[in-house]
Amino acid sequence: MKALVYRGAREVALEERPDPLPLPGELRVRVSAAGLCGSDLHVMATGVSSVPPPLVLGHEFGGTLDDGRFVVVNPMLACGQCALCARGLTHICPQRRVLGFRQPGGFAQWVVVPRRNAVPAPGLTPLQAALVEPVANGVHAWQRAGRPLENVAVIGAGSVGMSLLHVLVQRGVQGIDVVDPVPARCEHALAAGARRVGPRLEGAYDAVFDAAGTEQTRRDALAATRPGGSVALIGLHDDTLALSAASLIVGDRTLAGCFAYTEAEFAEAIELVRSIDAPWAEAVPFAEADRAVRDVLAGRAPAGRIKTVFRFDA
Ligand SMILES: [Zn+2]
Ligand SMILES: [Zn+2]
Repeated sequence: MKALVYRGAREVALEERPDPLPLPGELRVRVSAAGLCGSDLHVMATGVSSVPPPLVLGHEFGGTLDDGRFVVVNPMLACGQCALCARGLTHICPQRRVLGFRQPGGFAQWVVVPRRNAVPAPGLTPLQAALVEPVANGVHAWQRAGRPLENVAVIGAGSVGMSLLHVLVQRGVQGIDVVDPVPARCEHALAAGARRVGPRLEGAYDAVFDAAGTEQTRRDALAATRPGGSVALIGLHDDTLALSAASLIVGDRTLAGCFAYTEAEFAEAIELVRSIDAPWAEAVPFAEADRAVRDVLAGRAPAGRIKTVFRFDA
């Protein structure tokens, strides 16, 4: 099979690799489409010690099983035995590994996955299948923020921010403002249902979602949250967090860290993604994946393309 292999910082290549064989309890997925995530790009750009090369990355994908069923793969590989897994909280299982970071992922024609992780998704288009994972992140973030129904802001109109926007619109949230410095991204957010877009956050929101995750955007998020409101942290650009404890405590505000999604939220995302029309996601033939990655890393991708999705039948 053909696979896009990460070989080290700024080194990716399309290579011929042996077709993987499923062990008992595993299924083989013929990949239809796989999304390129910011975290994949981070690994490819700089190298990350927890992701040793060579490795096939890719954790946002769907495809067909040998019996013909269409599935989306939940990339959170968990032990399935602990108290958290028993409650469907596989994303915080102490033993969890993420497919595409700790074992071969979706940037290949075939992938082997545990049976539990191949989630039936009949009727989805390949592009929709590739967007389930980021949409699931949005479902989880909305839940973590206390499911606000009006007056919210999203910082960062990248694929996480746009996927979250889709969830908020589908859930009937009124008054969603989106902040991003890139005008082409703001245009997409407006078209997808944002009330206001712009480069700066102003107002007093019931909840602010920070999909950027810098020290500054976290401070901005807290400053723009009304007393009693919620700040949901999704982006992880910087590790340091410097916020006013008085603002949190005296303002009775909630600060929520948002990581991944539960199994139930992943299933919810499969339903929500059916209505997505994502002109901000662009399909690129998998045969050109290495060049596409180099273009994105070099900043040569079109400004209006927020997400690159590899298509395997193109
Ligand atoms: Zn991702
Ligand atoms: Zn577990």
